[in-house]
Amino acid sequence: MPFTYQRSSALFDEAKKYIPGGVNSPVRAFNAVGGNPVFVERAKGAYLYTEDGSKIIDYIASWGPMILGHAFETVVEAVKKAAEKGTSYGMPTELETQIAKLAVSMCPNIDQIRMVNSGTEACMSAVRLARGFTGRDKIIKFAGCYHGHSDSFLIQAGSGAVTFGSPNSPGVTKGTAQDTILADYNNLDQVAEIFKNNPEQIACIIIEPIAGNMGCIVPKEGFLEGLRKLCDENGALLVFDEVMTGFRLASGGAQEVTGVNADIVTYGKVIGGGLPVGAFAARKEIMNYLAPTGPVYQAGTLSGNPLAMSAGIAMLSHLNNHPEIFDRLAEKTKRLHEGIDSVLSQKGIDYTINRYGSMISVHFTDEPVVDFDSAAKGNNEWFKKYFHGLLEQGIYLPPSAFESYFLNDALSNEDIGITIDAVEKVVKSW
Ligand code: PMP
Repeated sequence: MPFTYQRSSALFDEAKKYIPGGVNSPVRAFNAVGGNPVFVERAKGAYLYTEDGSKIIDYIASWGPMILGHAFETVVEAVKKAAEKGTSYGMPTELETQIAKLAVSMCPNIDQIRMVNSGTEACMSAVRLARGFTGRDKIIKFAGCYHGHSDSFLIQAGSGAVTFGSPNSPGVTKGTAQDTILADYNNLDQVAEIFKNNPEQIACIIIEPIAGNMGCIVPKEGFLEGLRKLCDENGALLVFDEVMTGFRLASGGAQEVTGVNADIVTYGKVIGGGLPVGAFAARKEIMNYLAPTGPVYQAGTLSGNPLAMSAGIAMLSHLNNHPEIFDRLAEKTKRLHEGIDSVLSQKGIDYTINRYGSMISVHFTDEPVVDFDSAAKGNNEWFKKYFHGLLEQGIYLPPSAFESYFLNDALSNEDIGITIDAVEKVVKSW
């Protein structure tokens, strides 16, 4: 059946009347790639089923959380069971301790964890905690890294912010912006210089330890270790934003695979099993600064919500009991990488493929992509053709060149083979 947008297009027109831009998160509107966004009717395993009746192979997995594939049975059952007992109490439940205990046992170097409702909240709260703990105001962030849409982070942000040409959003005050100091990803000398110029003022460095919001960008050897050392020497905290990498690269996320310990770690996506959950965690000494134990205030009516906690427990338990999933995902991603690589290299076009674990991105430039500037050199016209060509073949990639694909465990080798064949068909006509 040919790929059509008729119903999606009508739904988008109706949505635009009542929702700004027709969407509740900007990247969904397809502004970066043009054309009409695809409306989803349902999803199962590795596939999305569109409102126009197409079945498409999904490489975004809801931007990461659906690591086991869509509508994974034990997660769905856990949510159903929880819903029957009431959807929110605003009072403590045993579920919250169960997920906290599980997360702390899976991740290195953390004693306690606080649940919130999104990655944005997790990063915003982590920075407040770092400031409260150190008594300092300034933070260092990297151009092209995205840590959610709270004010301090919308300074050269990646992901949707850069896609929409507003990496520095209006509405962020100068006062807030001046406390965020920017550095280039993978440039350790620059970070050392910032510490030198701002003695005893830096509360923390926040970083995506493997970046996914300017495509997938891998830290150079020694970069994360160097940041760790600079933080230790200067009394600053190292915050790993593991909203994408947590429970995806390994049980213990990027801390485990890189062997570098952070002081505060943020989580999101996988930890909620597809429900709205984020979290931040640290050793006890730091978490003791949080209310109600300590003076740094942070709260949430729906935080620790029983549906979300039940989904999260089902998801994390499955990953904890099946650690082979992480290797399997990495193997599938390698297979995809090699297939796309072989097709594009025969075509003689400029490209670079970055990959780490189950995160991968294709950049249409022949230069190494190591930071935001090099990612921005990618040819967006080619990306648009690649994206739409693949969508018409039934393959759904992230609709922006500044995003990583996320593979899920339900993807079969056959699905990956179909994807590589589709890439071949798409670039044949270039
Ligand atoms: N940090 C990172 C690394 C992210 O990728 C994202 C979202 N893509 C966030 C934070 C913000 O998470 P959320 O969209 O749940 O607020």
